[in-house]
Amino acid sequence: MPIPAPNPLLDLPPFPAEGYADIADRLAAVLGTNNDVLLVQGEAIVALEAVATSLAQPGLGAINIVTSPYGRMFGGWLRSAGAKVTDVIAKPGLPVTLDAVRSALDANPAARLLALVHAESASGILNPLEQIAALARERGILTVIDAVASVGGHTLDTDALGLDVVVIGPQKSLGGSPGLSAISVSPAAWKLAGHAAAPAGSILSLLDHRRLWLDTGRGALPGMPSALEFWALRAALDRVEAEGLPALIARHAQAAEATRSGLVALGLKPWVAPGDASNLVTSARLPDHLAASQVLAAVHNSPGLSAGVGGIAERLVRLNHTGAGAGFEQVLANGVALGSALASLGEQVDIGASAEAVADAYRVNRTP
Ligand SMILES: *Cc1c(COP(=O)(O)O)cnc(C)c1O
Repeated sequence: MPIPAPNPLLDLPPFPAEGYADIADRLAAVLGTNNDVLLVQGEAIVALEAVATSLAQPGLGAINIVTSPYGRMFGGWLRSAGAKVTDVIAKPGLPVTLDAVRSALDANPAARLLALVHAESASGILNPLEQIAALARERGILTVIDAVASVGGHTLDTDALGLDVVVIGPQKSLGGSPGLSAISVSPAAWKLAGHAAAPAGSILSLLDHRRLWLDTGRGALPGMPSALEFWALRAALDRVEAEGLPALIARHAQAAEATRSGLVALGLKPWVAPGDASNLVTSARLPDHLAASQVLAAVHNSPGLSAGVGGIAERLVRLNHTGAGAGFEQVLANGVALGSALASLGEQVDIGASAEAVADAYRVNRTP
């Protein structure tokens, strides 16, 4: 047998040990934080489960805001670790209201933790992070933010908002690979993580990260680092920094705005008002006599279009404009594909006007 030829995906140089701290520092800059940043070898869902499992303890009062399946899962992990969880469940496909959050906080004065997803790619909504963070700060409650989808697509000022724990992944707006994720941890969160029932010797243990990574000078990582994923994360950060974080966020905002213009010109309504909408995904409300499954069956080769999630799934089509998709080509293709599917179902739609509206939205130079 001849020796197999080198393969660039397999025969990689090892990732340099001093490179991990550099990656963590660059992620801290993206997060706007001086808190510790932990590198988790796994997709973001692993980091979220680690946070819930490490912070929760028997009897801990927690407010868990649910605007998608991610929030539901987070509440489940908190409960499994013994926390007393109050779910605040938003209306299907809508952001949580401040009133609902305030009521839950008032009804649970002993709560010590509040969990929230910043922006949802599942429904295309943006939760009012700043105001909710202010409510939590007033009461001295720890905040845990799932910013996996929003980082790179929305402003995320971790320290300015006093966010205690923020979980991010490179695979959405940052346009990277999903194999690594990161968690920022404030001093107050470390205090809570140090409880008597905290997991140790576990892939889900935050204390293991502190012992094996922070306390040893951020050289070796816990476990066996994947060079492939670390090179990919470094490449994603190189690209984000070359574009500039403000420009990346502005590109997502412009894609969202152009998508909305195109939808309106097609005669469709975006599901939520601009202030409630994320820059990552736009949910289009279908005419009442059409179901999403019917419309999507009439679409061909348009990976940017998908059904909604949850109880409103059949009322909505989602147009994705995240990461590399946050640009003219995908926004235009999404609108044309949706328009032509509607036309094939007998709807009166003006695809040309929609395409023109998208082009108009891109004629303006939004570079910050
Ligand atoms: C994508 C996403 C995650 C992480 O999901 P993975 O399956 O790990 O990619 C978590 N939260 C939100 C809000 C997301 O959009």
